[in-house]
Amino acid sequence: MTENEVPASASPSAVARRLTGRAKPRVEVLQEYQDLNAKRRERILPALWPFWAPGPEEIYRWRVELSCGCIREVLTRGDNDLPAEGRWGEPGYNRCLPVGQLWCAHDDDAPAQYRDIAEWGDRREQTFAADPVEPPDYLDAQTWARIRWDEPRVSAFWTVTLACGHATEVVTDLHWKPLDGPRTVTAERQREMIAEFEQFWASDPAGQGERERAHTRRQLAAGWPRPAPEQLCNTCPHARTIVAYQGVDWLVPREKEQIEETRARPSRKQVEQRLKKVQAEMKRLQDQLAELDEQDRATE
Ligand SMILES: [Zn+2]
Ligand SMILES: [Zn+2]
Repeated sequence: MTENEVPASASPSAVARRLTGRAKPRVEVLQEYQDLNAKRRERILPALWPFWAPGPEEIYRWRVELSCGCIREVLTRGDNDLPAEGRWGEPGYNRCLPVGQLWCAHDDDAPAQYRDIAEWGDRREQTFAADPVEPPDYLDAQTWARIRWDEPRVSAFWTVTLACGHATEVVTDLHWKPLDGPRTVTAERQREMIAEFEQFWASDPAGQGERERAHTRRQLAAGWPRPAPEQLCNTCPHARTIVAYQGVDWLVPREKEQIEETRARPSRKQVEQRLKKVQAEMKRLQDQLAELDEQDRATE
């Protein structure tokens, strides 16, 4: 496996089975859901509640086992939405993990690794104020004068998808576009930089950890491409795969009639088939009408 390669075990299919332990008390879960829903509904038009903030009677409870060994409870809309087939949020970001993954951070999680950028996505711009004239505590005035931005500046932030399927943000120059490809330094500058880093590593062996040193070596060998084609994935260490699941029950226990009613309700497939039939019949009638129009014109 090369250094940036993604582990092959990233998404085994989850199995339905009995999991150890017990589900949380239902009233507790119901209360949590209602609190969350009340907050959601403050921001959403009532007409959209059925889609984005459905009532608890539509919600089904599951217990899932993750690749880290933890067992967690999740909720889906109805008992047909399997937890391992859904996309779950990434805490702290307004984005989702790949299908079937759930966030579970442990104190002893492995450090983040570099992953290749697989796809460039959304772009936003951010303005930064000019740096203060006074140097910060950790820098001398001379160094500060060299690196300080004396005017406000704008940078572009791109959301990228990494080879592992996770997202991160990459900062670029304002005018750079993915089609431009990364910019590299001249061969002469590349040789200088290699010499500079070799000297730095020799003089300060602890100055750069193993991972950063390996990244720097790859960057140097590639002519120091900017933006760098590989980025740290801070999600990988905590994104777990759902390996098994067990249905618990509806969040609001169903009466027998309700269960019957759900069973009697046509499935999506049945509705789609009926829709197809109606559309075909509509098309037939339209053709027939067109034919009659044609005949009318011919006899005029
Ligand atoms: Zn865990
Ligand atoms: Zn990742």
